[in-house]
Parts: sequence; C-alpha cells; structure tokens
Amino acid sequence: MINKIKALLQEVENMKAANAEELEALRIKYLSKKGEISALMNDFRNVAADQKREVGQFLNQLKETTQNKINELKESFDNVQTGNDDIDLTRTAYPVELGTRHPLSLVKKEICDIFGRLGFSIAEGPEIEDDWHVFSSLNFAEDHPARDMQDTFFIQHNPDVLLRTHTSSVQTRVMETQQPPIRIICPGRVYRNEAISYRAHCFFHQVEALYVDKNVSFADLKQALLFFAKEMFGPETKIRLRPSYFPFTEPSAEMDISCNLCGGKGCAFCKHTGWVEILGCGMVDPNVLESCGIDSKVYTGYALGMGIERITNLKYQVKDLRMFSENDVRFLKQFESAN
Ligand SMILES: [Zn+2]
Repeated sequence: MINKIKALLQEVENMKAANAEELEALRIKYLSKKGEISALMNDFRNVAADQKREVGQFLNQLKETTQNKINELKESFDNVQTGNDDIDLTRTAYPVELGTRHPLSLVKKEICDIFGRLGFSIAEGPEIEDDWHVFSSLNFAEDHPARDMQDTFFIQHNPDVLLRTHTSSVQTRVMETQQPPIRIICPGRVYRNEAISYRAHCFFHQVEALYVDKNVSFADLKQALLFFAKEMFGPETKIRLRPSYFPFTEPSAEMDISCNLCGGKGCAFCKHTGWVEILGCGMVDPNVLESCGIDSKVYTGYALGMGIERITNLKYQVKDLRMFSENDVRFLKQFESAN
C-alpha cells in the first residue's frame, strides 16, 4: 500500500491542468468521495496495526499535497483571468514621443563642428569665476565699466567671486596651463546683470575661439571668419570687418555678414543696410599672453567670440530671446526637423 501511495504522490506532484475544467476533473479523480485518495482511506482499515502509523503518515502527506497542488493551480488560473481583463494584446502600441534638441544646442553644435573642421578642439571652464580669469588677466582696467555691479553678478560680500560675463575666462585657464600651439573653441553659458526683455537676458550663451602659435596673423583670422560664415550661412555669404575695441584684443574688429534674409539688398531685419553684425574678434593683446605666461615676442594669436542666441536668431528668425528659456514645447517642437 505504501508503494501505491508513493506512486500517487509522484503523480500528484507532476500534475498539470490547462484550464479550470481539467483541474476540476483532477479534483474529482483524487479528492472526491469516490476518488483515489478516499479509496485508500477506506483500505486503511485493513492495514495491519503495526503498520498503521507509517501508512497513516504517508496517507496524510498525500492528501495534503494533493489539496495544496490543486489550490496552487486554481490560483494560477484566477490570476491569468484577471490579467486578461487588463491587457488587450490586439491594441496598437502607444506612439513613442521623441524629444528634440534645443535650437541653441543645435547651433552650438554646428559652430563647434565648423571650427572642429579647422582643427579646433573644445575647452570648457567653470561658470562661477574669479576676477583674475574674467577681467584682470584679460587686460580689463581697474575701473572698466564691465566690473560694475550693474553689468556683473558678484557673489555677495566677496567681489572676487562672480558669474562669468564671457567665455574668455576659459581661454585664460587654457593659456595658463598649456603652451602654444593652442587651438580651442569654448562654448558656454555666461551671465550679465541686464533687465530681461525680448532682446536681452540675464544669461545667454557664447562660443569663443582662440588660436595661439608662431606667426599667427590677422590674415589667418580673416580666412577662418570667411570659412565660418560660408559654412554657417551658405556659400553666397559675404563678410566685412569694422574696427572696434575690446580690452583683450589689439587690433579689434567686429564682423558683419551680408543679410541672409534679403541677400544684402536691404530689409527690415538688417535695418536696410544689407549687413548684420554677428561677432567680435581681433589679435590677442600681448598683455593677455604675458599675463598667462606665454611669451608674446615668440607667439601671436587671434580670438573671436559670438553669442549663440544671436546666430540662432539669424538662422531661425527667432524674434524674442525669451523663447529660448521658456521651455514652451510648441516653440521647441518646431526644431524637430533640424535634429
Ligand atoms: Zn536684410
């Protein structure tokens, strides 16, 4: 009898049911009054007294195991049933919403790529800076108006800690630690204490380029500028340079490009001049090279810098600067195809 119980135990442990009907059939087969286990219970009366204890234990184990197994299978059917209510396998997949690159990121990348093709590599630096890297090393006079609280955000109680007003501070940091040849492009966010309007913001983005080596001349600068303008705004683009002044370059110039809206004929955007200003540039002032530990008798260099917002406005005609920082999805979505 023990062998029969063991065989049944094995059978029960391996039993499977594909659905509730099959499970009910199993329950009847083993546990009903006319089932196999009940039959064994009846036979138990005939077991010899000295074996009753052992056989009884096996019989109880069989009964318990069968009941547990049937409960377990029943539960799995119940779960599948509730699951079926929630999942509609015939339904189409949800559309996956892809984000878009921010227009400023797109333009920044394009500028960096163009200069990358000229051999410039990207350099970055901290946004919280000190006076030396933002002003003093760059030949700003002690009483230069940019140092005024009205133009620069200073950290309270410490006039030596400030938010950088231009990315030229990155140039200083690179020149302090590397000897020429230096050929870097520095993209980054800068801060100025300005009232926010459609054409000014308290933070914006710049890209500056710096090239220092032996025999770098103004002609090299002009060539790089022309290459950049044509790559960025199309092969028809013309450039012109106007003399200007910056503390850190000598001589200095501002560069205009032929208006890419009217092709130079004159329109409201270019104020009917046919030209729009896009960047400042010049030969690095020898004082700047010296203050960074570079011998200005051996090396010369050029630098140029532009606002990414300005370039983006020209490329995409964004009228209001504030759109760039408002995170309005309707605005950002329009740049999807540019990604
Ligand atoms: Zn125009």
